[in-house]
Amino acid sequence: MKSPDADQAGAGIRLSVSGIRKSFGGVEVLRGVDLDIVGGSVVALLGENGAGKSTLVKIIAGDYQPDAGAITIEGTAHSSLNPVTARRLGVRMIFQEIADAPTLTVAENISLGAWPGRRGFVAWRTVKKRAREALERLGVDLDLDAPVGDLSVGERQVVEIARAVVDRANYLILDEPTAALSSTESERLFGYVAALREQGTGVVYITHRLDEVRAVADRVVVLRDGNLVLEADAKTTDRRELVSAMVGREISEVRRPEAVLVPDDAEPLMRLRGAGSTGAFDRIDLDLRAGEVLALYGKVGSGAGEVVQALFGVRKLDAGTVEMEGEAVKLRGPAQAIEHGIGLLPADRQRESAFTMLSLAENLAAPSWPRLAKHGFITRRVEAEAYWRWHGVLNVRSRDDAGQELGTLSGGNQQKVLLGRWLERHARVLLLIEPTRGVDVGAREEIYRSIRALAAEGVAVLVSTSDYEEVVQVADRAVVIARGEIVARLAADEIETKRLIEEVGG
Ligand code: ADP
Ligand code: MG
Repeated sequence: MKSPDADQAGAGIRLSVSGIRKSFGGVEVLRGVDLDIVGGSVVALLGENGAGKSTLVKIIAGDYQPDAGAITIEGTAHSSLNPVTARRLGVRMIFQEIADAPTLTVAENISLGAWPGRRGFVAWRTVKKRAREALERLGVDLDLDAPVGDLSVGERQVVEIARAVVDRANYLILDEPTAALSSTESERLFGYVAALREQGTGVVYITHRLDEVRAVADRVVVLRDGNLVLEADAKTTDRRELVSAMVGREISEVRRPEAVLVPDDAEPLMRLRGAGSTGAFDRIDLDLRAGEVLALYGKVGSGAGEVVQALFGVRKLDAGTVEMEGEAVKLRGPAQAIEHGIGLLPADRQRESAFTMLSLAENLAAPSWPRLAKHGFITRRVEAEAYWRWHGVLNVRSRDDAGQELGTLSGGNQQKVLLGRWLERHARVLLLIEPTRGVDVGAREEIYRSIRALAAEGVAVLVSTSDYEEVVQVADRAVVIARGEIVARLAADEIETKRLIEEVGG
């Protein structure tokens, strides 16, 4: 596939890192990594979250200094780089979070930081000419005078790439550039990457979308836990090989709990048909049955969390219907959702729903106040009784005191108390968004146990998560969402790590 021209254009361009090590706070996140970036060639860098991909490329861009190892650029060895040197040597990085100046025009942004001119005068005509040339080389048609703030994320990335073209970047690093792009925009981006490669740029393309590897890359390398575990030809390697390298055998053997097999023909408690919310998800059909834990699995931004928000009435549905026990319901806000017996535990419990200064009992009883109150008053004793009803079911680790402040418990135990709210409230449907985000590994298992205990009490549980291990550990069934649409439905015996990653990647 590589054209002779590309070899010609990239001749002599080579950046090699070897034996790169890096620790943060005593934890080693890169353990001796080697990587070559060669002119006229694209290397895809794959790996799970936390594998060390961003750390590695930040070292190449001079943002971080390695603890050990060397960086050789066109024959000259450097023990580390700083951002200025890296830039001078032709290294450019494009992040997901775009660092442009929104009020400046496309043309101005393309020359940002390197305006032509002398003695304080900017040569505006040159600014425009350079911008036009750069966009032509990429084959893009953008209005040079439009403020960048008016453009889509994809277009803003193009502006960033054009800036690298103007600077004659020899090495271009893209760190998960398509995470925020539509599929059309992603395809266009692949075209620009190909154009740069033809012109001799050496490209590193970080992604965790497996299907992109073949589309953009010549070579693929996989990082796992700070080690380079696979290097292969991008055109001939297959999905399974990449997935195994990314996941490693250890993780694929996560123990699954005994699934609760609610019969397929059991009447769903909640039924969603053709649900859509503009810009978030479309054509979602879901059945949720009492006593089961259903996982809605998708990457951040896939729409999984947004579906759950819609079911709690905090996001508007533009299409489709929601039924509870066969009756159509409108969920125009949380109050209505709660009326229908629906509870939600949001992702960011600190900000959104926990009263850390109040007691465990108050936190647990809060949504049930209207029912627990007598003549408009609620007593400490009534709250404490409510708390003790669920303390054991949820296995909360606390002092023997319902008056203890919530904020004094660990994150995992706080989460259990908040789950108890919905037991006390007799919620029939419990919605959870990323229930263990920011919770340490030990406490996670306990939360999973609590979630399963809720299902065992007959609650229908829907968990939206971007963590496949969470799906494996907690779900009886799973629905996989990608780019706002359902891509797979998995029964209990089909839920396994590799399968989930494969389904979500495509
Ligand atoms: P990836 O990009 O592959 O998802 P990263 O390189 O961002 O992975 O992170 C690798 C590990 O290093 C993670 O555990 C992350 O928490 C940690 N890490 C990254 N940057 C820092 C930092 N500045 N300080 C402390 N830990 C960090
Ligand atoms: Mg990263």
